[in-house]
Amino acid sequence: MNKTKKIKGSDLPVSFEDTSIAFQHKSDHELILSYLIFRLTKNPFLVKFLSQAAKFTLSIGLPVKPLIKATVFKQFCGGEKKEEYSKVIAKLSKAAIGTILDYSVEGTKDEVGFEDTKKELLNIIEQSKSNPNIPCTCMKMTAIGSFELLEKISANKTLSEDEQREWNSIKNRLDVICKASYQTDKPIYIDAEESWIQAAIDQLAEEMMSKYNKNKAIVFTTIQLYRWDRIDYFKRLIEQARSGSYKLGMKIVRGAYLEGERERAHRLEYKSPINATKSETDIEYNKALEIFIDNIDVVEICVGTHNENSCKLLVQYMAENKLANNHPHIYFSQLYGMSDNISFNLANAGYNVSKYLPFGPVESTLPYLARRAEENTAIAGQMSKELEIIVKERKRRKSVH
Ligand SMILES: Cc1cc2nc3c(=O)[nH]c(=O)nc-3n(C[C@H](O)[C@H](O)[C@H](O)COP(=O)(O)OP(=O)(O)OC[C@H]3O[C@@H](n4cnc5c(N)ncnc54)[C@H](O)[C@@H]3O)c2cc1C
Repeated sequence: MNKTKKIKGSDLPVSFEDTSIAFQHKSDHELILSYLIFRLTKNPFLVKFLSQAAKFTLSIGLPVKPLIKATVFKQFCGGEKKEEYSKVIAKLSKAAIGTILDYSVEGTKDEVGFEDTKKELLNIIEQSKSNPNIPCTCMKMTAIGSFELLEKISANKTLSEDEQREWNSIKNRLDVICKASYQTDKPIYIDAEESWIQAAIDQLAEEMMSKYNKNKAIVFTTIQLYRWDRIDYFKRLIEQARSGSYKLGMKIVRGAYLEGERERAHRLEYKSPINATKSETDIEYNKALEIFIDNIDVVEICVGTHNENSCKLLVQYMAENKLANNHPHIYFSQLYGMSDNISFNLANAGYNVSKYLPFGPVESTLPYLARRAEENTAIAGQMSKELEIIVKERKRRKSVH
């Protein structure tokens, strides 16, 4: 296929600069709230302090929940219950943006909790059946199975009888979820997690893809391009899909566990699985887009990124190869509350776009919210970009009032 490396912003069929489109769903009041939250998350020490303070004050029963719910939770989450997140789904749908409901209860550790998560996922899949604004579902393997067991499998360790039973339960749960997605004809994205449990996740995802992706990609796995071994893995998966006559569903992300990966590799003295620099990760990410374009007949992707250059590059490849903006094999996806300039402008130009929308009890989403804030402070330039576009939109609104 025809590929040109250089991104020529002005020639692209979409621009991410129109803030009136980006913030069409936000009132003046909501825009000010977003501004204040992003200002606050610029300070890493304050973010660390506030996330610890929030956990502590909630754990001792102080009434801070309404404050959290009206601020950071509102910015990054859909709500606690269906009545609340349904409003967000409806709002996003007005801008032709789909919602990927992300059941954000973290820290589940026993069989009862894993079964509850499975039921919640089946409930989301059922909702998606009749709701065109929920294009697919997403899940974390650690929400339906034990982290320790996934780690043991990944390290090729021998399992005890109990562990073997537990492993079978994880497989059964996953199969029930993927089968329901298949019957509903809506994809399920399996998130990528820490490298030391990822081999087990990959194994499960590959089994499910070969079983349920015969006609189209229902099960999507995820590759993290901050890992230097993932391009080769992507190529292997493509060969596997071709020889097994099934479609490869692939979510492409940079990776969310950078600090933990580096810390563990250093502590246990093995070679870090992570690229040495951000620019190497960027190169790998864009390489994955190129590989995808070359294999679009057998691969369907979700491009999970807030990186404007990567989004522009894919838009450019699509234009050069005369692929329709709403090509059924291509989805762009961002997290709710972030990079609205990318999501809303892409959707406005007719591209397939969705937002990951976490929901669940405020207390249970705290680890997600803390990670969001901490990750954001760690991403060089991300916060200033979020602030820059909000400031630009506020100025624009003042000038038209
Ligand atoms: C829809 C969606 C789904 C996602 N699903 C997953 C998932 O399943 N698993 C997962 O792990 N993450 C997931 N993420 C998070 C994602 O991996 C990134 O952490 C986040 O999106 C930031 O990367 P970026 O491409 O948006 O932006 P950018 O700001 O361009 O990139 C930041 C990223 O670059 C990498 N990076 C930063 N500094 C360095 C460095 N010094 N050396 C090497 N690499 C570096 C890190 O991955 C960092 O997160 C998802 C994100 C989205 C939007």
